[in-house]
Amino acid sequence: MMMTGIRRLGLPFALAITWFAMTPAASRSQESRPQPEEARLRAEVKTLTSPALGGRRGEGGRKTAQHLVEVFRALKLEPLFDGRYTQAIPDGAPDRIIGHNVGARLVGSDPQLRDEWIILAAHFDHLGVREGQLYPGADDNASGVAMMLEVARAMAQSPEASKRSVMFIGFDLEEIGLYGSRYFVEHSPVPLKQISLFITADMIGRSLGGVCDPYVFVMGSEHAPGLRPWINQASQQQPVKVGMLGTDILILDRSDYGPFRAREIPYLFFSTGENPTYHTPDDRPETLNYPKLEAISQVIHKLVVQAASASKVPTWIQAPENTIEEVATVRDILRSLLENRETLKIGVAQLYLMNNTVRTLEAIVERGSITSSERATMVNVARLVLIAIL
Ligand SMILES: [Zn+2]
Repeated sequence: MMMTGIRRLGLPFALAITWFAMTPAASRSQESRPQPEEARLRAEVKTLTSPALGGRRGEGGRKTAQHLVEVFRALKLEPLFDGRYTQAIPDGAPDRIIGHNVGARLVGSDPQLRDEWIILAAHFDHLGVREGQLYPGADDNASGVAMMLEVARAMAQSPEASKRSVMFIGFDLEEIGLYGSRYFVEHSPVPLKQISLFITADMIGRSLGGVCDPYVFVMGSEHAPGLRPWINQASQQQPVKVGMLGTDILILDRSDYGPFRAREIPYLFFSTGENPTYHTPDDRPETLNYPKLEAISQVIHKLVVQAASASKVPTWIQAPENTIEEVATVRDILRSLLENRETLKIGVAQLYLMNNTVRTLEAIVERGSITSSERATMVNVARLVLIAIL
């Protein structure tokens, strides 16, 4: 995930991770269709974070791009860019290549719908090696790439073909300002109006502040509310809570959904949020919650399959439509942070503001509706709290 540029205050490093309650193996194996698997996600995160890939920047970035090419090729997915798996990203002069997006496609089976595309993407670049220190970027964003590759494998190996076509993309150069995804939308292999839905995930292996364990957050449904029943259905019986938030909770576009949002393409952005190891050398593979990563990957897999085969995909609405569930999610986040106020070093002024806000949000949830000025206040408090604590 890209930095906001706002310096964070103190970082408590020693937060324990509460491991997820595992779902019984029996309930997981009921599905006959291939689906993302924990052991494979774990192995892929290990590969992506290994010193051989150098923190996935510079030469390490090129090696990572090559690794993704090999994975796509082994899955027998078609190359996305005019017979190539890679899209070179120039910097000003066309002969100065600074990175590569990597993409593959699965062409849909329905003659009417195969010109409509669903994109599943995750940025693979990270911070490289700095002063001799490897930045492994396990959560940011080996977790998202592992998910994307597992969904690609599950769909490539599925006996049931999707009606719409699907692109799987690893974006490069996200960390320096969404370069890869911005270049992609300017040089898309298909007209942008044929892209029905863009889904991305950035940091889906831990939890917000290291303390909001049950949650993965998804932003973007406010511009395509018809996606909400799909999200709810896809997350049923999974040991993870999907909290739908308005994207404006984040200041600036924090990941690759930005260029798609700007072009009014329906999008969903999944993230478990910033944790204390964000952009440090401590973002290591052994700190991820793999059962949770598996659950989130399965939710996203179901969503992509649904979007690729539904008769219609919900379209963009300009004015965001937020829900009362969002208020309950923000209330839960604030409660979790408050419960961990000592480890998170929450000061007296913050404590006062957060306690007051929780009480206000409780009343709003009870009432069952929120006014636009109440929501504006909630968003401002949430932004303040996230900046101060993370
Ligand atoms: Zn990042």
